Amino acid sequence: MKNYRKAYTAGTFFFFNLGCPKNIEDAERVASRLKERGWEEVSDPSHASLLVVTTCAFIPEAEEQSVEEIIRVASAKEKWQKLAVLGCLVSKEDGALYDLFPEVDCFLDVEHMKSLADRAEIGCEEDLEFDPLWVRERLAVDGRRLFTPPHLAYLKIARGCSNHCSYCIIPSLRGELRSRSPESVLREVEELARLGIKEIVIIAQDSSSWGFDREGDENLTGLLKRIKDVAGDIWLRLMYLHPAHIDPVELLHLVDEGVILPYLDIPVQHASDFILRRMDRGYGSEYLKRIFGIMRSEHESLVLRTTVMVGFPGEREEDFLELIGFLERFEFDHVGVFEFAAMPGTKAADMESAVKVEESRFRKDEILDLQMDISQSRLSRLQNRRLELVVDEVIPPEMKPADSIWGIGRYYGQCYEIDGVAYLSGNKAEVGSSIYSTVKSVDAYNLFCEL
Ligand code: SF4
Repeated sequence: MKNYRKAYTAGTFFFFNLGCPKNIEDAERVASRLKERGWEEVSDPSHASLLVVTTCAFIPEAEEQSVEEIIRVASAKEKWQKLAVLGCLVSKEDGALYDLFPEVDCFLDVEHMKSLADRAEIGCEEDLEFDPLWVRERLAVDGRRLFTPPHLAYLKIARGCSNHCSYCIIPSLRGELRSRSPESVLREVEELARLGIKEIVIIAQDSSSWGFDREGDENLTGLLKRIKDVAGDIWLRLMYLHPAHIDPVELLHLVDEGVILPYLDIPVQHASDFILRRMDRGYGSEYLKRIFGIMRSEHESLVLRTTVMVGFPGEREEDFLELIGFLERFEFDHVGVFEFAAMPGTKAADMESAVKVEESRFRKDEILDLQMDISQSRLSRLQNRRLELVVDEVIPPEMKPADSIWGIGRYYGQCYEIDGVAYLSGNKAEVGSSIYSTVKSVDAYNLFCEL
C-alpha cells in the first residue's frame, strides 16, 4: 500500500482540522513534530508549502465533510504547495482515496499520521513500507502546537476502543484499547502546567476504560488523583465516559474532593432495553436509571452531558418514547443527538427493520425541542448568580452579536466548542484569565454575563 508519493523540503505548514477533540489532539501532535523538525506554522494557507487536512469518518456526515474539505483545499492549492490528508477517513478507505484524489501528495492513516514530519523531512521512496510508528510511551509536549486557545489543552489518556458497539466503526479504525502509562500521562500534565494551561480536557474513545488493558489494579480514579496532584489548580474536565464502566459514587467523590469539575459527559445512546441490547452497549435501562438517579439526587450543581442516537434499526415508537421519558426524568444539561447512519462493516449495518429517514429526522427534532426547554430551565437556575468564568475569546468588532458584548467565556458547566458559551459584557478581561461575573440572562444554550 502506498501512503506516500513525494518528498517535501522543510518549509511552512497550515492545518485544516475536522472532527472531534480526539482528532484535534492527534493533529496537535503531528503539528508539534513538524515544528520540532524546523517547520514553521503560518496563519494564511496560501503561504504554506504544506497543507494538511485531518479527516473524520465517525458517521457518513463526517465523511462527507472530510471529502468536501479535501476537494476544497485540493482545488485551491497552488502547484508549489503539497497536500497531506491524514486520519480516520484514510484508515477507513484503506487506499481507495489515492486514486480518487491524485492532487493529494501524501495519505497517512491514524496509525501513521504522526510520522508526517519524518516523511516530510527525509524524503521517502515511492514504495516505502513503513512500520507502525505509533509509540505508546511517546510524548514531549515541549513546543507542542495546540489548536485550542492557549489556556486549554486536550489530554488523551488512551487510544482505540474495545467496546465494539454494534454501530461503531471506531474499533476497526483506531484499534483496540491502548491505555497510556501513568508516567507518560503525568509527564504531559507537568508540561501543560509549565505552559500555563488553565483547563485540561481529558479524552479517549472511552475514558472510563483507562487501565483495563494494563497489569495491576490502578483505575481511572487513581489516575485522576495523580493527575490532580500534578495539575494543581488547573480545571480537569472528564469527557466520554461509558456508562457501563463508571461508578457514580466514586465519580461524585472526585467532584467533591475537587479533583474534577462537576461536569460529566456520559454518552448513553439510548434508554430502551431492546435498543441497548441491539447496540451491544453492555447495560440496560434500569442500570441507567440507577446511576443517573444517584448522580442527580446527590449533587445539585453537577452538570450532565449525554449523547443519544435515534433511528437505530428496529427502534419502535415505544422505544423512542422511553428515551424521551428518560431525558425528561434526568434533565441532562446538554444533549447531543445523532440520527443512525449505517457504517459498512459494522453489525448494525446488516440489521433489518430500518427506520425511515423522515421518521429519524422527526425523532431527532422532537428531542432537540425537548432539550431546548430543559437546557434553558437548567441554565435559568444560574440567573443572578456570580460565577467563575474563563475568558476564551475577544470578539472582533464586526462579529459582535450585540454592541455591549466584547467576549466569550465559559463557566465549568460548558465544555469548549461542544456546549454553549457565556457572552461577556462590562469590564474587559484578557483571554485565558479567570474572572467572576454575574449572570444577567440566559437563552436555551448560553449565558449573558456582566463583569
Ligand atoms: S464506546 Fe462504542 S461508540 Fe464509543 S468508540 Fe467505543 S465502540 Fe465506538
